[in-house]
Amino acid sequence: MDYQLTDQPVPRDPAFANEIIEATGVRVDRCYQCMTCTLGCPVADAMDFPPNQVMRLIDLGAEEVLLSSRTIWMCVTCETCFARCPNQIDTAAVMDYLREKATAKGVAVPEARVQLLHRVFAENIRSFGKVHEATMLMAYKLKSRDFFSDMGIGLKLFLKGKIPLFPSKVKGMDEIKRIFEKTYDQTFGGKS
Ligand code: SF4
Ligand code: SF4
Repeated sequence: MDYQLTDQPVPRDPAFANEIIEATGVRVDRCYQCMTCTLGCPVADAMDFPPNQVMRLIDLGAEEVLLSSRTIWMCVTCETCFARCPNQIDTAAVMDYLREKATAKGVAVPEARVQLLHRVFAENIRSFGKVHEATMLMAYKLKSRDFFSDMGIGLKLFLKGKIPLFPSKVKGMDEIKRIFEKTYDQTFGGKS
């Protein structure tokens, strides 16, 4: 669907909003476009649609536009929008839902490295129950073939002992395995 600027009224399509409400419990239909979320969002400048526009696009039923947007991969789930929203709209949870749906549908991701980082992060949690930065970064570097960016910062952190060399596992790895089987594997098919 092509979304052009127009001076004609654009019809609302509640089907997508209803789907999101049912899946997440977030009442996206309560948004009245005050922009308080966007004014507090730390990464709004890096998004193609800031949080209030996400709500408007949901209102218009613009699913394809949202699933292929940079916005859903730029959101860092800081929940600032949720904390500021006068209508208690949890935009971060909506972004999660949109990321999951885009992944399940195999939509081309405009920020492929962000999605890769999501995956190696999740796989690291699956392996150890918590993040082990050294192995996570190694997996990211190998899969992205981006070997040299941030090397200086990484080395400084390592020399200061902020990045432990060897991982340790948490208790309750069986529970973590079950969580992944019920959630992550259904989206990614068990593959990173
Ligand atoms: S703060 Fe809440 S009501 Fe205001 S634009 Fe954002 S989501 Fe909508
Ligand atoms: S949760 Fe996402 S959309 Fe909300 S303020 Fe943080 S980065 Fe922005």
